[in-house]
Amino acid sequence: MFFSGIEQAPADPILGLTEAFRKDPRPNKVNLGVGVFMDDKGTTPALECVKRAERLLWEAEKTKGYLPISGSAEYGEAVAELVFGADFHGLASNGVAIAQAPGGTGALRIGAEFLKHFRRDATVWMPAPTWDNHKGVFGAAGCPVKEYPYYDPSTRGVDIGAMCAALEKIPAGDVVLLHVCCHNPTGADPDAAGWARVADVAARAGWLPFFDFAYQGFGDGLEADRAGLLAVLHKAPEAIVATSFSKNMGLYGERVGSLALVAENGKSAGAAMSQVKRIIRTLYSNPPRHGAALVRTVLEDADLRERWLQELDAMRARIAGNRQKLVSGLARRIEDLDFSFIVRQKGMFSFSGLADAQVDFLREQKAIYMVKGGRINVAGLMAESLDYVCDSIAESLKI
Ligand code: PMP
Repeated sequence: MFFSGIEQAPADPILGLTEAFRKDPRPNKVNLGVGVFMDDKGTTPALECVKRAERLLWEAEKTKGYLPISGSAEYGEAVAELVFGADFHGLASNGVAIAQAPGGTGALRIGAEFLKHFRRDATVWMPAPTWDNHKGVFGAAGCPVKEYPYYDPSTRGVDIGAMCAALEKIPAGDVVLLHVCCHNPTGADPDAAGWARVADVAARAGWLPFFDFAYQGFGDGLEADRAGLLAVLHKAPEAIVATSFSKNMGLYGERVGSLALVAENGKSAGAAMSQVKRIIRTLYSNPPRHGAALVRTVLEDADLRERWLQELDAMRARIAGNRQKLVSGLARRIEDLDFSFIVRQKGMFSFSGLADAQVDFLREQKAIYMVKGGRINVAGLMAESLDYVCDSIAESLKI
């Protein structure tokens, strides 16, 4: 028989953990593994700006007809302005072409397929470590994948010297994946001086930057978070950018993101986008309309946009507060280790520095779930679980 000869696939390292968490009957269980924002009740609520947009849309929407292959043009315009800033030179020159995409993952995959067609032999270089699915997505499209040095466990930051030295040697025909902000899983981003160095190398070496911008607004704010992207685009003429509204607008399951191509001029951008559309047509024909309509409504309506900024600020403040509480909770219990690096990390994740043995102990003995490698979702900490988590981490360090 055909199906009976097929073996069970291993569980996804991150989504599989959520599955195991759900099935865990222990009442004191804590999920620090999942990659979604949580409020202090442990829920991931729809944002109020989105609920209001949904109400407006319910009244105004007259059709459920197909969108164009590259999605809603109005959505694309609003998103390009958000991602690059209204005064980005590429917007005035039409050097930016943008397609709606089903989430950040969808955008990455379309970009990967595009590379496979038009830069057939290009290797895609990724930071070590990176989001687990990056290798899966590019690998599935048939792109050879390699790593460049990124994280330095001794400083808990970016090893910008080693990173730039490696980027300098990457051939012009290759592609370099860069997390714009809130690096997943480490929470370590280059500072302004670091980005300036990356920009210089990009201009000199001539490889194509491929930006993953999945957390705009989760680091220091919508504008501050694009600084690295703009620093590189200021010097490098071309890039691919994948974005997502999963986190910053809480639209996870609506699957809404974008793929932007930054070209030297409008003619090149238009031709490249026409090829992206051919790729999309054979992958899923055209994107889902609801999530993009919500984003467009929020971005275009001044009140809703203001509301969104407030809600985004509140998410960022909760994460920053949790970082502080975790650091002081651990400092009270563990004298010989300094966890203050946790407050310096950006975004939802913290690379805790816990070894796999500790991660296993915490899951098996304490029902505290985190990703192998010690990645913690800081938003997963609740007021009532904080002491328990700090006590348990302290205990895990003694095993
Ligand atoms: N890139 C990174 C770095 C991510 O962390 C994620 C989500 N975990 C994505 C892309 C994909 O996001 P989406 O859910 O929008 O597909």
